[in-house]
Amino acid sequence: MGLFNKRTVMRRYFSVFFCLLPFAAGGQVVVDKPLSARLTGYDINVVLDPEEHTLSGQMTAFWVNHSSAPVSEAMMHMYLNAFSSNKSTFNAKGRWSAAGDNGWGWVKVNSVDDGNGNNLLDSLRYVSPDDGNINDRTVMRVGLPGAVEPGDTLTLNIGFVSKLPSPIVRTGYVDDFHFVAQWFPKFGVYETAGMRQRETDGWNCHQFHPNSEFYSNHSVYNVSVTLPTDFVTGSGGMLIEEIDLGEGLKKVVWRAEDIVDFAWTAWPGYKVLTRKWNNVDVTLLTSAAGLKKADNQFKAVMYALDYLGEKVGPYPWPHLTFVDPPVSGAGAGGMEYTTLFTSMGGGVVPSFLKMAEMVTIHEFGHAYFMGILASNEFEEPWVDEGINSYWEQRIVDHYYGDGYGLLNLPFLKMSDADQGRLSYITSPGHNIATNDLPSWMYPHNTYSTMSYSKAATWLHTLEGIIGTKTMDNVFREYYRRWAFRHPSGKDFIAVVDDVVRREHGNKYGENMNWFFDQVLYGSGICDYRLTGITSNKIRSYSGVVEGDSVTYTRSDRSSDTLYLSRVSIERLGEVKLPVDVLIRFDNGDEILEKWDGIAGYRDFEYTGTGKVIWAKIDPYDKIDMDVNRINNSYTLEQNFTATRRMMNKFVLLMQMMISIFTL
Ligand SMILES: [Zn+2]
Repeated sequence: MGLFNKRTVMRRYFSVFFCLLPFAAGGQVVVDKPLSARLTGYDINVVLDPEEHTLSGQMTAFWVNHSSAPVSEAMMHMYLNAFSSNKSTFNAKGRWSAAGDNGWGWVKVNSVDDGNGNNLLDSLRYVSPDDGNINDRTVMRVGLPGAVEPGDTLTLNIGFVSKLPSPIVRTGYVDDFHFVAQWFPKFGVYETAGMRQRETDGWNCHQFHPNSEFYSNHSVYNVSVTLPTDFVTGSGGMLIEEIDLGEGLKKVVWRAEDIVDFAWTAWPGYKVLTRKWNNVDVTLLTSAAGLKKADNQFKAVMYALDYLGEKVGPYPWPHLTFVDPPVSGAGAGGMEYTTLFTSMGGGVVPSFLKMAEMVTIHEFGHAYFMGILASNEFEEPWVDEGINSYWEQRIVDHYYGDGYGLLNLPFLKMSDADQGRLSYITSPGHNIATNDLPSWMYPHNTYSTMSYSKAATWLHTLEGIIGTKTMDNVFREYYRRWAFRHPSGKDFIAVVDDVVRREHGNKYGENMNWFFDQVLYGSGICDYRLTGITSNKIRSYSGVVEGDSVTYTRSDRSSDTLYLSRVSIERLGEVKLPVDVLIRFDNGDEILEKWDGIAGYRDFEYTGTGKVIWAKIDPYDKIDMDVNRINNSYTLEQNFTATRRMMNKFVLLMQMMISIFTL
């Protein structure tokens, strides 16, 4: 029903659409004006064979040389070849094995020309820039007969067949369920000197690794798929038309503008629901079993639309589709393609655990962090996954309960932010590597811990230090400056520096390097410990001076008893962050001390009629990076062990979930 409604609305765009072909860059169908530079674009026309699980057809792809020098080769991702053998870089570590002979996946180019009569098929070479693996065929170099001059457009007409893999890892099929992602030859990003701090012009086109996903130009897509009429479809594009071809076949036509990847799905079992958020048509494709959770899922995605729209910047497209895959297709769950994302079937999750909502909010968030702000996830996964996890945690805890956003049982509660923090602090190896590594370089299975959990944890810590208002303004400025471009981590840090300086002057120094050098470019841990509180009565003076016995009269002393209290703090970790210390006296007085946290220890001393009875480092939980909060005060230790055991179990479960779903 949702599809039918959409079709009638979209029909008026149809004539406009065909005027635009074949040049995808021109004209507007989806958004009012181009959001990006549109340096690449794709017109794709394929047929789905649901028995063989292949897509065969033709593509016209273009790339604009925006550099100031001629370019004589093109580089393209051939993602599906990650599934073509057990020797691919993706599979070399045994992450995936084909489900029988028809489980392998691949993409094969049958023909390629440049539109000027030059057959380029013989120029194709597979290259492996990351690891030199000669058995990896996920990056293809296209040699060009002549250089593409600055400002000129390269057009490639490519005939190709894509075979989907099974079981599904992000992309693939099981029975008649098809999730079609990373499925066509796709340009890498041609970067010019200065962009993302690189020194010379060149293609950035990495191999497909188990832990890396995207880096692409914002593109225009016109995609037509011919398939049996009983398949229900959805995509990251706007549905332009469904044409009944007779003989049980139909052609589905989509257009997408200014998105970094185009994915789609087809399955006869889908139920389709559409709701409206402002001017956005939000479509959910789910299984019959998932219908009962549909309200919760819509609510979650609309919370995220509201929150990120207010705190970061507008969601600019009039369409958004999300998918709850059936249980059999769970391998497609938890992925992001900007205007299409996949959640997880929420049918089996009890309502006290907001797991499905969390996944929905996370994957939608990638529309911003990676989709609009198109960072390089291969090289700097924290810019994508860390920032997105930070916002996911804020949204989940804001809407589902501060302190219990993720898990809400009478005897056990956990916020989503705590889940992230605990994943970081309890992971072995959380201090063996820096947080700025390329996704495939994280040692000892620390990719998830570092890219998601640690980065989100220090972003919360940054918020604690500079304040929520400044943090929100950092992201508004990040969006304003970098939307529909390709920011690096350093570009993000430059925004932090500028906004912090604008709002706080030199309060935090010339720049925030002292922070990022430790948490991002360093591997140390942060741990402050309250080592002791002493309160001693100040005794009257007695003793011997130069051999004479001396006695002071009572008038030399206060009539009240005075105490000397000392609060001793130690820095156990390498990371030095400013911390607050709250000190309470037995007469009810409280003092909030501020310490720069730099020295190895600090003693606070007080003389007065009151005794210090309690003290706590970081009383408002601003420094999420502190790996041990139990030693922050004297009074938290009781009643903790049982809860901590349960929390640890829960965190292990969450870590397992994150490693199953790539999120
Ligand atoms: Zn993610």
